[in-house]
Amino acid sequence: MQKNDTAVVTIEDIGVNGEGIGKVDGYTLFIKDAVIGDTVEAKVMKAKKNYGYAKLLKVIDPSPARVRPACPIARQCGGCQIQEMDYEKQLWFKEEKIKNNLERIGGFDRDLIESVTEEICGMESPYRYRNKAQFPIGRNKEGHIIAGFYAGRTHHIIAQDDCMLGVQVNKEILEIIVRYMEECQVEPYDEEKHNGLVRHVLIRYGFITKEIMVCLVINGERVPNAEVLTERLGRILGMTSITLSVNKEKTNVIMGKEIKSLWGQDYITDYIGDVQYRISPLSFYQVNPVQTEVLYNLALSYAGLSGGETVWDLYCGIGTISLFLAKKAKMVYGVEIIPQAIEDARDNARRNGIENAKFFVGKAEEVLPREYEKNQVYADVIVVDPPRKGCDESLLDTMLRMQPKRIVYVSCDSATLARDLKILCEGGYEIVKVRGVDQFPHTVHVETVALLIRNAV
Ligand code: SAH
Repeated sequence: MQKNDTAVVTIEDIGVNGEGIGKVDGYTLFIKDAVIGDTVEAKVMKAKKNYGYAKLLKVIDPSPARVRPACPIARQCGGCQIQEMDYEKQLWFKEEKIKNNLERIGGFDRDLIESVTEEICGMESPYRYRNKAQFPIGRNKEGHIIAGFYAGRTHHIIAQDDCMLGVQVNKEILEIIVRYMEECQVEPYDEEKHNGLVRHVLIRYGFITKEIMVCLVINGERVPNAEVLTERLGRILGMTSITLSVNKEKTNVIMGKEIKSLWGQDYITDYIGDVQYRISPLSFYQVNPVQTEVLYNLALSYAGLSGGETVWDLYCGIGTISLFLAKKAKMVYGVEIIPQAIEDARDNARRNGIENAKFFVGKAEEVLPREYEKNQVYADVIVVDPPRKGCDESLLDTMLRMQPKRIVYVSCDSATLARDLKILCEGGYEIVKVRGVDQFPHTVHVETVALLIRNAV
């Protein structure tokens, strides 16, 4: 096939990015927005020797798994990838993705994988689950100020102030900000010219406390007529924190490093289970609070604590998992690379009166080997929750030398999880349980928790 050719294709598989995969006379086509089971007409946009990428032109015969997306801009927006797939099918896809990675990358036997995998934890209501949203601000073709989302892989803003994954109050907040900007002649930021003021609006919402945070990211030090804005936003029920984040760099990084208070306090609080956390504009905090509780409870049950254990929580962020486990353990040690996150972790421990948690700033692959060599630290259980790139091999080596009874691996990328589990299993551990948790419905991402136990020798 060649560029601009069109073809009728039946979709037989799903790619890792959620795209439909089908074949035309043995030639494989990857088609965004096509759902497994669809027969579609598609146009080839990029042709390689044995495969190509095609654009969906028309759904000729829809799959039983095809649904009308809840969001009108689901296809253009870069946020969701699989909103047109029935939620049950999405969960099946995510579970298969985990199993396939364990088989292909981890080299585990399919029967073993099937026997250890527990059913993926999906959401009962897979919309409006995000507690955080970041909207870029710009102008549309007619010159009106808009808030919205970037079209997939571009910096073109599509107006949309009511994302179906976000909370309802986002829309009210954005309308107030846009109206204030129009009335007070506040310019949105222009990325190309690097002028204008308002770049992004960050909104965070405490699902349990109902506290709201608004942070305007600006290319400047202050906003004009700030009192007009704070007076209007302050009337919204639950408004707790209004701040500015100064970001004058020419960069894709959204937040600036400096936070200035405008109204109220400069943080909100929320709960996961019965642990209270303080959340600042710059803190990392899990975005799906309902599923985070499911995830942490799963990690807790896999850790199998009875009160006397020493636990290491590596890549601990603001100490969320550490504090969740501390109530059931003798002692928890958290390790995290970002110093401010550790400050938050210590503050969160104090807030909850938790005294059996201690935190270290540094790289997990440096802190753990150092503490093990120098101070012979011990672990009954090691929990890891690394970023997408997974654990450093030297860290896995130290874990193997420390010989904890259990390792609980929380992963946001099952490919690197599979790679790391292979190393741990070659070093004397056995996979006992694996379970997916759908933290991000309608996207291709999935969290996985795995429990490893040391082989009896
Ligand atoms: N467990 C936390 C955070 C997980 S995200 C939670 O559930 O909220 C992964 C964390 O690992 C981030 O906070 C990141 O800053 C941290 N990190 C990244 N590389 C690291 C390293 N080499 N050593 C320690 N922490 C690291």
